[in-house]
Amino acid sequence: MSQTFKRILCPVDLSSFSLDALKLAVTLAETNDARLDVLHVIHNPFDEIYMSAITQTDPALMEAYATEPQKRAKILRATEEHSEVLLKQFCHEAIPSHVKVNYHVRRGEPLENILDGAEDFLTDLIVLATHGRTGIKRLVIGSVAENIVRHAPCPVLTVKPKMEGKP
Ligand code: ADP
Repeated sequence: MSQTFKRILCPVDLSSFSLDALKLAVTLAETNDARLDVLHVIHNPFDEIYMSAITQTDPALMEAYATEPQKRAKILRATEEHSEVLLKQFCHEAIPSHVKVNYHVRRGEPLENILDGAEDFLTDLIVLATHGRTGIKRLVIGSVAENIVRHAPCPVLTVKPKMEGKP
């Protein structure tokens, strides 16, 4: 049986683990002439990765938030805008310009959004890292990765962290 993959979904949490998985997803997209869907899910909009980006570009907004909590909606919008930029910056070097790619940012539970994304994008292969930003080192596989393997509607390729000292 020969299987070709035409829509590859690579969920990234902006960790170095997900960057390694992205590089493999890019190689597979190139060899299969597939479209790559890169998805980032904002789980906690007030996470430090977004806040530091907002602080750098709009310090006034962050200062206002400290004194006026009603600015929360504005911060949420800023997070969404910034995370799209962060996602593209994160992928920039790993994805050559000839690869067909769509970038997606969603908000909510990563697991639910990745599974919904796989349905929406007609994904036929998911490539993701076994570990991510919240990783507990002794776990063999993170909870998002484990549940994607369990519940995905298509094949899943998991990418383990590189072992130190090994090529
Ligand atoms: P850990 O518990 O080590 O953080 P996870 O199972 O949460 O491991 O993450 C494994 C992989 O799942 C990540 O490298 C990434 O590919 C994907 N993933 C996790 N969270 C998100 C997210 N918020 N958005 C997109 N992908 C995610």
